[in-house]
Amino acid sequence: MKCEVIRDLIPSYANGLCSEYTQEIMQEHFGNCDECKNIYESIIIAKDNAAVKTEENHSSLHTIFHKIGKSIRRRRQGIILTAILVAFTLTAGAAYFMLQHVGSIHSIFFPEQKLVINKVGDEWEEIDSDILFNSIFYEKSLVNDANSVGPLNIKVVDERDNVIVGPFSVNPGEAYSLKELQNDKTYQLQISAVQGKYFVNIN
Ligand SMILES: [Zn+2]
Repeated sequence: MKCEVIRDLIPSYANGLCSEYTQEIMQEHFGNCDECKNIYESIIIAKDNAAVKTEENHSSLHTIFHKIGKSIRRRRQGIILTAILVAFTLTAGAAYFMLQHVGSIHSIFFPEQKLVINKVGDEWEEIDSDILFNSIFYEKSLVNDANSVGPLNIKVVDERDNVIVGPFSVNPGEAYSLKELQNDKTYQLQISAVQGKYFVNIN
């Protein structure tokens, strides 16, 4: 058979697509013709190289994916670390703020009005400072401080001098509820007590 015909058939033969009869002819020809045999062998080598390359590509793709996965994992760890750091900073900041402002926070949640009363006679007398419950955090209770010289007789009056609570008496160290007083309304205290110094806390 002519070399041209053999060479046309080499690719099919290399891929195992030829019939047994053609294969026999090819093998017989390669036995007698080195040129065709070389062409055939170079095709086989090229084919093997291509197969190896594909495998290499697969493994390098694998490496790339592995690297991407690694970097995503590393980035995720970074994000988690950052979140922890931010949360920690915020908490520490809030704690620091609380420590700096304990007084003002305390006065928001536990508001108090302190009155110091110097009683010179024992007749009823109106105290200058108003009572004003301007926050929902007031308990609305009046405490005659334990350091006061004695019991206080008290009337709570509104702006028109109507008595709203009392008269009632509170011993030193005792409290009296002013629950019936309204928010955001000013009241005055009228007090009768023996001469001396009194400390009253409205909270
Ligand atoms: Zn040949």
